[in-house]
Amino acid sequence: MLRGLTWGECEELLNSWEKSIRDNNVYGYGLSKMMNFQAPACRWLDDGFSFKGLVDKNTALHGLTIMGFPIISIDELPIHEDTKVVVVANDYPAISERLKAMGLQEKKNFIFINDYWTLWGFYRHRKIIYSHLISILLTDRCTLKCEFCGAKIPYLRVYEGDRDISKIEADLDLFFSRADWLTDLGFGGGEPLLYNDMPALLTLIGRKYRTKMYSCHITTNGTITPDEKVLQLAADHNIRFNISYYSGCGIGDGYEAKFERLKRTFDAYGIDYTVTSYPWIDFSLSQDESNELAALDSEEMSRRFRACNSGCSSLLDGFYYSCAVSCHEKKLGVISANDYTDGVDFNAIDPGNAADRKKLMATSLGYHSKPILKACETCSLMTGRKKFAPRGRQLKG
Ligand code: SF4
Ligand code: SF4
Repeated sequence: MLRGLTWGECEELLNSWEKSIRDNNVYGYGLSKMMNFQAPACRWLDDGFSFKGLVDKNTALHGLTIMGFPIISIDELPIHEDTKVVVVANDYPAISERLKAMGLQEKKNFIFINDYWTLWGFYRHRKIIYSHLISILLTDRCTLKCEFCGAKIPYLRVYEGDRDISKIEADLDLFFSRADWLTDLGFGGGEPLLYNDMPALLTLIGRKYRTKMYSCHITTNGTITPDEKVLQLAADHNIRFNISYYSGCGIGDGYEAKFERLKRTFDAYGIDYTVTSYPWIDFSLSQDESNELAALDSEEMSRRFRACNSGCSSLLDGFYYSCAVSCHEKKLGVISANDYTDGVDFNAIDPGNAADRKKLMATSLGYHSKPILKACETCSLMTGRKKFAPRGRQLKG
């Protein structure tokens, strides 16, 4: 995901890709990812989706075609001012360096597939595609009290409990009245499996929205096994689960047994799930460090924001936050209602207005009306002071 593009940069990007997309003059780079992840999206988006060719390192495939696209080696890629390459493979940083060494420029000559979906959807179909994860908060109740909770749940001053399902429906209705397709919708909390209206929510997703997104998932901490109704609805509507695994974090209370039971149950219902146990980051900074950051000149603050690739956005009360940390911090009161949080007020977008639609598409690509985010002042991620945190460590009491 690109981030922090000014409108001028964004227009340059849009103008340089529009003609190539229309003329089918774009190459893909990387084949296996194309087949695994992108192919279903291709089918949904357009049965005429096309690349001029696909670059792949497997010499045995050169000269063959796949999905009708000729497979070529990197040496056969034509290099000129208007070369356009979409990187489909996972190792974008390495491929990006290689393409730069060949004289190609990021954004102008090559971009990552997710950004390309957005461009392609707009220029081929006038559709608005948000090709990244958007998360929605269901509840601020949780079964755990993690000291380094990314959503800062244990530190909220006021707890709202479960969000009214009508508010979630209103947010999704608004979103899909402005945008046409979403790659991944995630439900989080707190612990979303505490959410009382989960059966109604899953029914709603299946009935109204599931066909408008590639993937829909719920992130859980592994302490709760849902009841039969929720499990069946999740299976029926192809809702994935992401289990954050906190083993060895001193949670106790039979955590391991609950986690194993949850996995067995998902297996029995044929529900797709992943288990994540990656290291946690301590996003917080000391007051002195925050003051130091707040005093930095705007160019340096802007550089940090633009360099950040956290890629997790949130939808809350009609507002799309391009950074989920911003959303959490506003809820927490760390940043005030007047501080700049970056994002889109969907209520202010006129879906019938061409300029509004173009700007909306651009926000999905990483256009921001201001290049500085208030939340970056209190976030360690891009400061060089990023610290790892003990995963799942519990607060006392
Ligand atoms: S399980 Fe821990 S990290 Fe997740 S929402 Fe609850 S307190 Fe936060
Ligand atoms: S607040 Fe943190 S996660 Fe969000 S854009 Fe700034 S540095 Fe990135």
